[in-house]
Amino acid sequence: MRKILVSECLYGGRPVRYDGAEIQCMDPLFLKWKAEGRFVPVCPEILGGLGVPRVEAQRVGGSVMAKDGSDVTMAFARGAELALSIADEHDVAFAIFKDGSPSCGARLIHDGTFSGAKVPGMGIAAETLAAAGFKVFAEYETGLAAELLEILGFD
Ligand code: SF4
Repeated sequence: MRKILVSECLYGGRPVRYDGAEIQCMDPLFLKWKAEGRFVPVCPEILGGLGVPRVEAQRVGGSVMAKDGSDVTMAFARGAELALSIADEHDVAFAIFKDGSPSCGARLIHDGTFSGAKVPGMGIAAETLAAAGFKVFAEYETGLAAELLEILGFD
């Protein structure tokens, strides 16, 4: 069965977000694929060694800065590389990632000012996967993901 890499906060089951909040994805296609056992959940920030709760962070150019001013780029980069290793290991068809995240953002990221504003861009892990050739969808793009899964084959 073709596997799909997913943001663990969308998959649910344990708190992984910086604020510990639950944001499980309830999209019908997402839930169908979850029930099929198709998902490989990863949280790049946890993989990178960060804990819950942790200080909110945003991309600032090539770096990732926490709201307290600390530079957390290395942890984010480590998590991105480990997420890519897991994608390769499971030969995933593509990824479905949480948009807006400095790690998982597929279409939008926060603008680095902690004002709530978002700009077009990708999180570090999404960018790393895309550079390696994996298509990365946002959680609201399951219809597009389904089209690609049909092309690639479900099994
Ligand atoms: Fe979710 Fe990705 Fe943030 Fe982890 S790094 S909490 S999986 S958006």
